[in-house]
Amino acid sequence: MDARARLVRWYRENARDLPWRKTPDPWAILVSEVLLQQTRVEQALPYYRRILDRFPTPEALAQAPLSELLALWQGAGYYRRAEHLHRSAQRIAERGFPRDFEGLRALPGVGRYTAGAVASIAFGQRVPAVDGNVRRVLARVFALEDPKEAELWRRAAAWMPEEDPGSWNQALMELGARVCTPRAPRCAECPLKEVCQGRQDPGRYPRRRRQKSQDWRLFALVAKGPDGYLLARREEGPWAGLFGPPLAEDAADLLAAYGLGEARVLGELRYALSHRRIRAQVLYARLPAGGAALEAHPLSAFARRVFQFAEQALAEAETGEALLAVALPAAGAGAGGVEPG
Ligand code: SF4
Repeated sequence: MDARARLVRWYRENARDLPWRKTPDPWAILVSEVLLQQTRVEQALPYYRRILDRFPTPEALAQAPLSELLALWQGAGYYRRAEHLHRSAQRIAERGFPRDFEGLRALPGVGRYTAGAVASIAFGQRVPAVDGNVRRVLARVFALEDPKEAELWRRAAAWMPEEDPGSWNQALMELGARVCTPRAPRCAECPLKEVCQGRQDPGRYPRRRRQKSQDWRLFALVAKGPDGYLLARREEGPWAGLFGPPLAEDAADLLAAYGLGEARVLGELRYALSHRRIRAQVLYARLPAGGAALEAHPLSAFARRVFQFAEQALAEAETGEALLAVALPAAGAGAGGVEPG
């Protein structure tokens, strides 16, 4: 049996039991792939179920306001994906579901990988889908230390069997997730071991890229008025489309943007995102008027954590358990080289 047939057989016998693998419905497959772009399988599962329960078809989502999808998306992060999915649903409701790679690729937010995955899994088109797991498997099988994207896609396309491209693509992904893992690949039980050119030294392939700085230092302004809190809508980054306290890398800029002369420093909140750590100095100020109810806005999980942190710090200060600093930190204390979220 050829190694590719062995891999597909291994996949059929060992694949994890995931709901999007049991459906031929392109909408369900598209939703799963959009979620999996930035979210691990275990985390994505409840979101997948919730979103498809409420929006079983693209038409159902197209008719609903974006805020309803954002409310279901809360906690999954990278909210731009939700906006793209909503716009894709509207496009599909108008023009029908695209049935090939090019048509899928033209949907908002659908990149080469997602288009390849949906085209092959839902429509049986013979196109590759190279995600991080597949990239690692291919680099090892072909002993490529520093492969360029174009080369990986070319190899992936050339190596695809004629039959069942959807299962083949998923088999490569599953192998990368479960056997050909980054640090401890289990080569002895790998269905590709006989053809793998990198098997003697898998750690060499692909060479690891240097990581960018992981720390994101910023200031978060919790400003409370008679009607609630000051809220800002994030336009980009992991929380695009959601609301939260105003954020900035410079405290003076942050206060000036809202016409505030001073604020208290409540303390530092540390928060982990999937690829970076946040160190936020939480500032507190009173507003003479205005503010908004938190419950009425879709908030990021980070925003909820900031408000919780502030309320706790304020409660402790009232009972005398902690003292609040009243001076502002020096302007420009943020780290360089980070993008606003
Ligand atoms: S033999 Fe080892 S390095 Fe090669 S694909 Fe399999 S698990 Fe990865």
